[in-house]
Amino acid sequence: MNGKPVPQVVIVGSGFGGLNAALRLAHYPVRITLIDRTNHHTFQPLLYEVATAGLSPGEIAAPIRWIVRGRRNIEVLLGEVQDFDLARHVVKLPDRELSYDYLIVAAGASHAYFGHDEWEPLAPGLKTIEDALEIRRRVLLAFELAEREAASGGAQVQLNFVIVGGGPTGVELAGTLSEIARRALADEFSSIDPKRTRIILLEGGPRILPTYPEDLSRSAEDQLRGLGVEVHTSAMVTGVEAAAVLMGNTRLPAVVTLWAAGVAASPLGKKLGAPTDRAGRVLVNPDLSIPGHREVFVIGDLAALKDESGQLVPGVAPAAIQQGRATARNIARDLQGTPRKNFHYVNKGSLATIGRAAAIAQFGKIHISGFVAWLSWLFVHLFFLIGFRNRLIVLIQWAWSYFTYERGARLITGDQTLPSWTELQREEHRSDKETISA
Ligand SMILES: Cc1cc2nc3c(=O)[nH]c(=O)nc-3n(C[C@H](O)[C@H](O)[C@H](O)COP(=O)(O)OP(=O)(O)OC[C@H]3O[C@@H](n4cnc5c(N)ncnc54)[C@H](O)[C@@H]3O)c2cc1C
Repeated sequence: MNGKPVPQVVIVGSGFGGLNAALRLAHYPVRITLIDRTNHHTFQPLLYEVATAGLSPGEIAAPIRWIVRGRRNIEVLLGEVQDFDLARHVVKLPDRELSYDYLIVAAGASHAYFGHDEWEPLAPGLKTIEDALEIRRRVLLAFELAEREAASGGAQVQLNFVIVGGGPTGVELAGTLSEIARRALADEFSSIDPKRTRIILLEGGPRILPTYPEDLSRSAEDQLRGLGVEVHTSAMVTGVEAAAVLMGNTRLPAVVTLWAAGVAASPLGKKLGAPTDRAGRVLVNPDLSIPGHREVFVIGDLAALKDESGQLVPGVAPAAIQQGRATARNIARDLQGTPRKNFHYVNKGSLATIGRAAAIAQFGKIHISGFVAWLSWLFVHLFFLIGFRNRLIVLIQWAWSYFTYERGARLITGDQTLPSWTELQREEHRSDKETISA
C-alpha cells in the first residue's frame, strides 16, 4: 500500500452502461458503489417477449448482486437517487447521502408522452419488468373478457390492439401480438375467433423504423403486413382515451393501446445542472464528463453526444456498454496520471426483430431481411443475455415456440379489470368512429 486514499466511485443505475462501468472499474484500485432503484439488471431488448408471454421475467433479468459477485471492491445498494450536490461531491438518497470522488450517472431514459402524461395509464409503455407484466395482463385479459361476453350470448367484441410508435419496440410488439392472435391462441377459444383481432401500428412519421435505411424500413413494413399487422404511417396521434385512439377527426376504437413513441431522459439528468437537449439528455463533453465537472460522467441513454461525423450516438445497448467501459478506462487513466481519451462509438450493426423468422439487419453496407436477419438477431441477443442458465432456457423456449407457436408464459396476474372494457361497448355504437379500415 502506498498510503494514498482509495478513490470512491459512485455509479447511479445498473443498466447496460452502469453495470459495464462497474465491472470494468473493478479491475482498478477504487471502491465502487453501484446504486439502482431495482435489485435487478433488465435485458430490455427482450422485454417485449415478457409482454407477449413468450418468456418469464426471471429469464431476461438477473440480480445485480449475483452479476457482480466475487468483486470485493463493488458495493451494491438498492435505492432511488433523488438529487446531487456537485459542489460537495454528494449523491442524495431519501435517507442518506453518499460521497464520491468520481460520479457516473447512468439512469437511462424512458418513453415520452409529448406533454400528455395523462395518457400513460391508458396506453402503457415498455421499459421495466412491471410494464411488461401489465401489457401481458391487458392483452390476455382482453381475449378472456371477449370470450366471456360471447359465451353469455353477446356478439364477438371487435378486439383492436393499437400500438403507437413504429420504432423497434412498436414493431416487435405489433408483429408478436399478431402471431399470438393468429397462431398461439387461434384454436383455444370456443366462442370467439382470436384471428379476427386487428393489430394496428400507428407511426407519426412517413416510415416505420426511421433510423434504418429506407429499403429496410420498406421490408419491415412488408414483413409486418405479411404477419397480418395493419401499418399506418404519417398517422399522428392527437388523443388517447380509455377505449379509443384519436388522430385528428379519426377515432379508432382500441381494447388495448400500447405506447412505443418518443424518448424522455431520466429526470436525474436535469438535476446535474448541465445543459440538456429537448429530450432531457445531458450534453456531455467528448470524454463523457459534464462541463465544469471532470469528475462527473453521464453515460448511456441519458447522455447526448455527437460522434466524429456529427451524428448523435444512438440510444442502444452497445453504445451504453461501450460508454461504461470507456469511462472506467478514463478514470483509470486519471489514477495513472495519463491523459483521457475521447469516446469513440463503434457501430457493429443494427438489428430489429419483427416476429417469427422476420427481422431486418444492417451491417455497414450490407442490408439483410427475413429469416437470416432474424437468426442473426437471435444469436446476438442470446450472446449478450446475462447468465448461461438464462441463455440456455431462452434458446430452448425460442426453439420450442418456433416449431409449436406456443407462448409458455400466458399468466394473467393481478387485477382482472381492463380500463377500456365498459367504454368499448359505447365505442361500438358511436357514429363518429374510425375511418381507418383494414
Ligand atoms: C423495450 C426496449 C427494447 C429495446 N431493444 C433494444 C435492442 O433490441 N437493441 C439495443 O441495442 N437496444 C435496445 N433498447 C435500448 C437499450 O435497452 C438502452 O439503450 C440501454 O438500456 C441503455 O442503457 P443505460 O445503462 O443507459 O440505461 P438503462 O439500461 O435503462 O438502465 C438505467 C438504470 O438506472 C436505474 N435508475 C433510473 N433512475 C434511477 C434513480 N433515480 N435511482 C437509482 N436508479 C435509477 C434503472 O432502474 C435502470 O436499472 C431497448 C429498450 C427498450 C426499452
